[in-house]
Amino acid sequence: MLIDSHCHLDSDQFDEDREAVIERAIAAGVTRMVAIGTGNGPPDLEAGIRLADRYDAFYATVAIHPHDACKTTPETFRHLAALSRHPKVVAIGEMGLDYHYDFAPREVQRAVFIEQMHIAAEAKKPIVIHTREAWDDTISVIREHWDATLGGIMHCFSGGPKEAQQALDLGFYISFGGILTFPKALEIQEAARLAPVDRILVETDAPYLAPIPKRGKRNEPAFMVETARKLAALRGVSEQAIAESTTKNFHRLCSTFGG
Ligand SMILES: [Zn+2]
Ligand SMILES: [Zn+2]
Repeated sequence: MLIDSHCHLDSDQFDEDREAVIERAIAAGVTRMVAIGTGNGPPDLEAGIRLADRYDAFYATVAIHPHDACKTTPETFRHLAALSRHPKVVAIGEMGLDYHYDFAPREVQRAVFIEQMHIAAEAKKPIVIHTREAWDDTISVIREHWDATLGGIMHCFSGGPKEAQQALDLGFYISFGGILTFPKALEIQEAARLAPVDRILVETDAPYLAPIPKRGKRNEPAFMVETARKLAALRGVSEQAIAESTTKNFHRLCSTFGG
């Protein structure tokens, strides 16, 4: 059994065959998936919850993606705080900083990020971090504003051992996606080799970033088996061992206790 800790199955790329995608995931052993709730941004915050309400296989998150920071109003934060109590919402995210696209001014991204950390702390739920070309600022905002005992997930981790250690020191779990299988991802692979067994997770970020040999195609949770296999090979353990540890880690962090 594997848990996809991060996917966007609400995406319109799945409108034609969502049911089949979910069936393929379960058949491949990916029996639980986290439906990230950022969708197309505010005012709709329920993209993940809609999937979780409909399918047993999903948990959900709620949040405002840094891309959508400019769509945020005070009402958005109130709504987010209310939804954060939903029983299938296991974490608040993805939130963070994206300096690659810079769709919102950096100070707006930062303010929206910090406010969401306050909401997550109130709800006592871990956070899911999206960071792109903004590592140092992301780490310093977390260090200043986040309680490490509540934990979090560094989604689609793309740093090396040094960055992994910074995240681990702040109470984070490291989630590896399809990039781990890319031949040039040597730094990420080194981080994956060294990360403590009790702090690793796997994800797809579907429909994005499919692992080899599906690279370039639409990603889906069933493909995560390739990423888990790569992680097992890098660490010199069985695929079964990776499935067990990542599942256990997810339940520990998200307080789902096997549900
Ligand atoms: Zn992301
Ligand atoms: Zn994502």
